[in-house]
Amino acid sequence: MMTRFSVLLITGFIFLTCNGFSQFITEYPEIPRIDVHTHLSNEYPGIINYLEMRDSLRMQHGINLAMWINLGEEKRTETAIDTITRVSKGRVMTCISDYSPQRGLTHKPEDIAGYVQKGYAGYKIWHGPAYRVLDEGETGIAYIDNPAHEPMFEAMEKAGMVLASVHVADPNGPFGDRGEWCADPVEFWREIIGLERVLQRHPGLVVVAAHGSWLVCQDAQIDFLRYMFKTYPNFHVDLAATFQYFYMVNRDNLRDLFMEYSDRILYGTDTGELKKSDIPKKVDQYVKTFRFLETDDAVQGGFYGETMSTGLNLPKAVLENIYYKNALKIYPGLKERMSKLDQY
Ligand SMILES: [Zn+2]
Repeated sequence: MMTRFSVLLITGFIFLTCNGFSQFITEYPEIPRIDVHTHLSNEYPGIINYLEMRDSLRMQHGINLAMWINLGEEKRTETAIDTITRVSKGRVMTCISDYSPQRGLTHKPEDIAGYVQKGYAGYKIWHGPAYRVLDEGETGIAYIDNPAHEPMFEAMEKAGMVLASVHVADPNGPFGDRGEWCADPVEFWREIIGLERVLQRHPGLVVVAAHGSWLVCQDAQIDFLRYMFKTYPNFHVDLAATFQYFYMVNRDNLRDLFMEYSDRILYGTDTGELKKSDIPKKVDQYVKTFRFLETDDAVQGGFYGETMSTGLNLPKAVLENIYYKNALKIYPGLKERMSKLDQY
C-alpha cells in the first residue's frame, strides 16, 4: 500500500524531473558573477529586463549575477555610456567596439587614452573569419595581425586599454566533426597564429580572447591553449558560447585546464538583447552554465545548444577566479564600480 510519504516522494520526483534545471540552487550564493561577454548595446528596455532577470536568478537559484560587460554591437555605444550606467544602476560597464574585416578599425589610436579615462572597460574587436563577412571579390583585412592594426595595438598597450573579447576564429572540431562554422583547419590556424603574432609584438597588451579563443573543440587545441597561457602572461579567454562544444573534448582534460589556469579564464555568455517575455528562458540559459561549472551533473546544453556534457565540479577558489576575480584585475575601473553596488 502506498503511504502518504511515498506519494509525496513520487510527486516530488515528478516535479523535479519536469522542472529540470529550474531546481538548481547554487552552493555559492556569496560569489558574485560578472558576465564579461554580452551584447546589451544601448537598448534600454532590454537592460531593465536584465535587472529583472538578475532578481529571478537570485530568488529562484540563489545566484548573484552582479555585473555585465557590454561589448556593444552595431549600435555604437560610445555616446551612450553614461545613460547605460544609469539605467543599469551601475551594473553594466561598456566597451568601445569595432568590426574590422571589411572596413578596418574605425576608432583612432590617439583617442584610446581618453576612452580609458572616460570609463570604457575595453575595446572589443570582432575580427572573426573574414570569409564570413566579405562579399565575393571584396578584399578586406584577413587576419588580426595585419600591419594596419599596429598603431592601435601600440596605443592600447600604452594606455592600458584591454583588447576585450577579441574574436579571431570560428569553432573547428576534429576530423569528421568539424562543425558548421569552420570546416577548414588550415584557415583556422592562420587566424589563431595571427592572434599569437599580436601577443608576441605587444607583450604589455592585455588580451581577453572571445569563446576560449575557440581552442576548446579538440583535445589538442586545449594543449595549444596551455601553450598560449604559459607563453603569454597577459593572455586570457572568456567562455562565451563555448559550453555546448564541451562534449567534443575529454572532460578530465578540460577540468585540468580550468584548474591549472583558473587565473586566465573568465565567465561569459554572448547574451544579447532581452525581451520581457524571454526572461524565464534567459534564467535557464544562465543556470545551465553555472550548473556545469559548479556540479558534476549531466547538463543538457550550455548557454546555447542542447548537447549533453558532465559538469566540471570546480572548487570554490577556481570558481571565484572565473566568476569575478580575474575580471576585477583585468578591466580598469571595474573593481571600483563593483565596490559601489549593493551586495545583492
Ligand atoms: Zn559576442
